[in-house]
Amino acid sequence: MGLVFLIKFDQTPNNCFYLCRCCQAPIASSQHYHFGFSEEGLSGSIFSSLANVHTLGPEHDREVGDYKVTNVYCNQCCNVLGVKIIEVPDEELNLCEADFLLKMPKLLMWNGHEIVDAYEVAYEENY
Ligand SMILES: [Zn+2]
Repeated sequence: MGLVFLIKFDQTPNNCFYLCRCCQAPIASSQHYHFGFSEEGLSGSIFSSLANVHTLGPEHDREVGDYKVTNVYCNQCCNVLGVKIIEVPDEELNLCEADFLLKMPKLLMWNGHEIVDAYEVAYEENY
């Protein structure tokens, strides 16, 4: 796949962001994290914007319940991090088309001081 140029995020105390657990490529700013979601076989954390990821073509879209989604891959290690939402049912208010639904166990988090487990951070925030 040739050289991969990664967008870098600053590891400074006033910056929080998520990284790929496998290769530590920066994936998402905490500013783009919305909330956790779980419904009809889809579960994860909703993000409105990601960096250093890619999806495959429309032929790889698949249906999960009433949703149409496609896998989101890390640009550096090509692991699946979650899905991008392609189509949502009319009555769905929480998820929007083009949102991303990521699996927290696939991510780490820079919390402003150190890299920690993203899943535990999300858990503490929700409870
Ligand atoms: Zn990766």
